[in-house]
Amino acid sequence: MKIENPTVEENKRSLNFIEQMVENDLKEGKNDGRVQTRFPPEPNGYLHIGHAKAICIDFGIAEKYGGTCNLRFDDTNPVKEDVEYVDSIMEDIKWLGFHWENVYYASDYFQQLWDFAEKLIKEGKAYVDEQSAEEIAKQKGTPTVPGTNSPYRDRPIEETMELFHKMNSGEIPEGKMVLRAKIDMASSNMHMRDPIIYRVIHIPHHRTGTKWKAYPMYDFAHGQCDYFEGVTHSLCTLEFEVHRPLYDWFIDQLMDSDYRPRQTEFNRLNLTYTVMSKRRLLQLVQDKLVTGWDDPRMPTLAGMRRRGYTPEAIKGFIDKIGYTKYDGMNDVSLLEFAVREDLNARVARVSGVIDPIKLILTNYPEGQVEEMETINNPEDESMGSRTVKFSRELWIERDDFMEDAPKKYFRLTPGKEVRLKSGYIVKCTGCKKDDDGNVVEVYAEYDPMTKSGMPEANRRVKGTIHWVSVPHSLDAEVRLYDRLFMVEDPLAEKDKEFKDILNPESLVVKSGCKVEEYLKDASPLDNFQFQRIGYFNVDPDSKDGALVFNRTVALRDSWKKTSK
Ligand code: ATP
Ligand code: MG
Repeated sequence: MKIENPTVEENKRSLNFIEQMVENDLKEGKNDGRVQTRFPPEPNGYLHIGHAKAICIDFGIAEKYGGTCNLRFDDTNPVKEDVEYVDSIMEDIKWLGFHWENVYYASDYFQQLWDFAEKLIKEGKAYVDEQSAEEIAKQKGTPTVPGTNSPYRDRPIEETMELFHKMNSGEIPEGKMVLRAKIDMASSNMHMRDPIIYRVIHIPHHRTGTKWKAYPMYDFAHGQCDYFEGVTHSLCTLEFEVHRPLYDWFIDQLMDSDYRPRQTEFNRLNLTYTVMSKRRLLQLVQDKLVTGWDDPRMPTLAGMRRRGYTPEAIKGFIDKIGYTKYDGMNDVSLLEFAVREDLNARVARVSGVIDPIKLILTNYPEGQVEEMETINNPEDESMGSRTVKFSRELWIERDDFMEDAPKKYFRLTPGKEVRLKSGYIVKCTGCKKDDDGNVVEVYAEYDPMTKSGMPEANRRVKGTIHWVSVPHSLDAEVRLYDRLFMVEDPLAEKDKEFKDILNPESLVVKSGCKVEEYLKDASPLDNFQFQRIGYFNVDPDSKDGALVFNRTVALRDSWKKTSK
């Protein structure tokens, strides 16, 4: 698929085609000026960022035009559904910042749907088919070859009615009978070729228990639920476009006034380097290729929340990619850009050293501690400043020192100066090595005239590095996350299994990292910028005295350079 990478627009965007349609409907006085939408997830998994795109338009349209949006759980298949998923879906919608008017379940309408099915049977528009799934599939034909009628198509109405009741009483085993709508086996639209509308399932339902054994199919439930609720605009993804004639056919059979819901389709969100379907995500969870639905590498909202992505960043990204009528792939680096943009504006800058080595300032008095003023966020003055403790021994990044450095290396190397962020300019004097030649300590001398407020405070040196005072540091574990898959479109790798195309470096755990004291009381999910490194947040695994941070996103996109 083609990768779209829309340019970032600073200006307010123009209306998308869905907003235009709603505005036209309102102008024409359709639905008595009412706007009602719904978000209809199936509770068979956690929501992913694709769902966020649907949520933003469903709830967003209602908000923008003074309407309402209901949350409706499409729970018509008890085999795959679970209350755990219902709870997580509600949590994720709230986290994104949206409010539903009502919560409904398709199962609330099982009786109404049953009555409607009986009505179709009585009108000779539905019949019980006793053929196997294979036989039914064989008779379907192809898009260019008409299907053939089932031998049961014209069975007497009474017989169908009796069998339909048996399908629901438990007398009929699963797979032995289905109810089909009698529409047109020669229709050019395959969905109109006598679609199955009820099947038998003997597994108890998470809400209705064992009351029902005959369950409506998605197509039979969806539009009718829209109709029962008074939905005006039923928005969904493009794959449902071919279902629309069937949606309309059922509504035609139900209508008893001028009111009818209308289905409109938009493009799915597909992201590079991941998969975007609950079924595939469940597979990753079940095969233990990730730690769970909320693994920070997952494209689920629970995973992104844990990773440190914010609702604002996700919504900003969705706004940038927009709503169209053609499917494509969205570049994950655009999402990462939106995350950086949002966090840059709002989070405090702190010091974290991922791979520490000790720097000793040999001319700094032993036992002395100074408080260095540091600005919390240069992008936001209102966040103020704080002080950070400075002393003779500091943790710095191992790769901020090099004994034999090339000319363009502007960090610590013997004889050269660097500035310690918010502190002094120091000149490197050497290092100590162990028996194997590994550097274990770095030495430097500080220049007391270069602290903020001193005469040489503004003296220019080429490099600035970050640090954490050794006696004032906290230990931390840092989890460096990267893309889950090595390839842009994992589903295009048809003959490969997921485990063969996973990025082996999608999680690198670093222990023994050092962070400044300020982070002592940070709570799970709090976001920070570790200066010079990236954006990080506190993982819920974090405990007092055993801090755990997740890398949300690096400061710069380095993927292209390092990709295999
Ligand atoms: P999945 O294949 O991941 O299970 P689904 O379409 O079966 O997705 P539902 O729970 O049935 O998931 O979807 C709820 C709503 O979210 C539907 O209106 C659907 O069109 C929309 N949706 C699902 N995936 C995406 C996506 N990738 N981009 C935009 N909208 C999506
Ligand atoms: Mg689905």
